[in-house]
Amino acid sequence: MLNGHFDFGNGYHGQVYLNPHQLFRQPSTIWRFAQDLIDVLPSPILDATEVVAGPVTGGALLAHTVAGLLDSRREITGPPTLFAPLTPDASGGYSLSRFYQQLVKGRSVLLVDDVRNTGQTLARCAAALRASGGTVLASAEIYDRLEAMVELDVPNVALAEYKAPENHASSNCPLCKSGVPINSF
Ligand SMILES: [Zn+2]
Repeated sequence: MLNGHFDFGNGYHGQVYLNPHQLFRQPSTIWRFAQDLIDVLPSPILDATEVVAGPVTGGALLAHTVAGLLDSRREITGPPTLFAPLTPDASGGYSLSRFYQQLVKGRSVLLVDDVRNTGQTLARCAAALRASGGTVLASAEIYDRLEAMVELDVPNVALAEYKAPENHASSNCPLCKSGVPINSF
């Protein structure tokens, strides 16, 4: 997360720029965050999790790591935790390949993503998991921006919560007005 004066390229300027890719750049960082996220998830959810799923736009790398780390805390004789990636589709939703539809069917799924913005991505992923016959136990993310417009009907767990300062239309940006130079990212 960077502080400054940013042009988001969508007509808005703001003081905070968040780049989740920074988390994934060094694998050990995401392993640590995954461990910490597991630590804050309630045991009944962890115990019931058979599949960890996440969107390939970010959460899938985290989901893969969480699935692996969960087994390091379980009996070695138990069934290994499975992983399923969700892919964005042309209609603006998310979908599972045929292979992963079969994998999810009849199983309990923990849905994870790196960041929760509007909650739309998690909602679309949950819809795809349910359409394939999976049961969504909970959603979880490293960072919740506290701007969710869509809430799932299952618990949501965040490792960190932070509300960024409001963004402004570029034509009405107070930072521009006070002559603060725009930072690049
Ligand atoms: Zn500005």
